[in-house]
Amino acid sequence: MDYKFPIIKTETPKAKPDETKLGFGKYYTDHMFFMEYDEGKGWHDGRVMPYGNLVLDPAAATLHYAQMSFEGLKAYRKPDGNINLFRPDMNAKRMINSNIRLSIPTIDEELFVAAVKALVDVDKDWVPSEPGTSLYIRPFIISPEVSMAVHPASKYWFIIILSPVAAYYEANNAGLTASHIWVEEEYIRAAIGGTGFAKCGGNYAGAMIASSAAQKQGCDEVLWLDAKEHKFVEEVGTSNAFFLIGDTVVTSSLTGSILPGVTRDSCIQLLKKWGYKVDERRLPLEEVLEAAKTGELKEAWATGTACVVSPIGLLKYRGEEHTINGDKVGELSQKLYDAIYGMQTGIIEPEMEGWVVEI
Ligand SMILES: *Cc1c(COP(=O)(O)O)cnc(C)c1O
Repeated sequence: MDYKFPIIKTETPKAKPDETKLGFGKYYTDHMFFMEYDEGKGWHDGRVMPYGNLVLDPAAATLHYAQMSFEGLKAYRKPDGNINLFRPDMNAKRMINSNIRLSIPTIDEELFVAAVKALVDVDKDWVPSEPGTSLYIRPFIISPEVSMAVHPASKYWFIIILSPVAAYYEANNAGLTASHIWVEEEYIRAAIGGTGFAKCGGNYAGAMIASSAAQKQGCDEVLWLDAKEHKFVEEVGTSNAFFLIGDTVVTSSLTGSILPGVTRDSCIQLLKKWGYKVDERRLPLEEVLEAAKTGELKEAWATGTACVVSPIGLLKYRGEEHTINGDKVGELSQKLYDAIYGMQTGIIEPEMEGWVVEI
């Protein structure tokens, strides 16, 4: 199906920010995508309209019981000036799964991707071109329904907003740096049967306390363990975790408490194509620490849309520090970063068919 949306242009376009001082989530573009859902009518009236405040009743359902879902992807400026999206179909599919879990009506994959493309196209002058910068795309669904009753709402809004963002590794002139990770034993992020595999605000609200605890320990982020036994490694902050042990790359299998990252999947597919052994399984923390001790643990890294690949140089567990790869950026982490970032930004030819979508 070919989706076309009305475009209502702003009459007061904003000044574009300095591309060398973008930060994250500080600036928003001139337009947003807005679509409504009403029970019996389905999703309707998708349009691109001026960016602006929402009017919500204080009793709006989302504000009370957090019935909401979101996505995160990016648009990249290519050297030839055109704009790339990276695997937006994966975000569309994931939002369907998040919505099902959260009793929110789903949005067709084609409609989701068409909405993203339509909005980015209208605000294409906002896609920055400084090295490492990009246009962050945030689709999300909330319910404006006036109801404090605990049941799925019958009205929803699907909104997409755009924010030009700085390079993740800006401080180091777009070069990777190794991060220090605190192994969290008290709090958990997600339990099997819960909402860990869905991208929803509640997961994030409950996780912030642990990130703060990690920072108090002098670390950058937290390594989550499984909820039941606190024995298996799950994710790093809001990123998926990978460990190169011997000649095998190990990452947690999608047990239900793991968020199926698009970058995670991209790493797995690339590694397999390059001839690496990739093991998706439950990985005991003890095995990781033992491998760090013997030197079998060659590298570790986290993956996500924001950082692409974030090498891990140190794990702090019960006051003890376990260094990985001399606290330096590993070869394979760098190779994965270069391949994925290169494809996203059009610096290199896409190695995988269908991953890069030009607008
Ligand atoms: C979004 C997210 C990721 C990374 O997913 P990408 O699609 O690679 O950006 C990993 N873990 C959690 C908990 C997340 O919310």
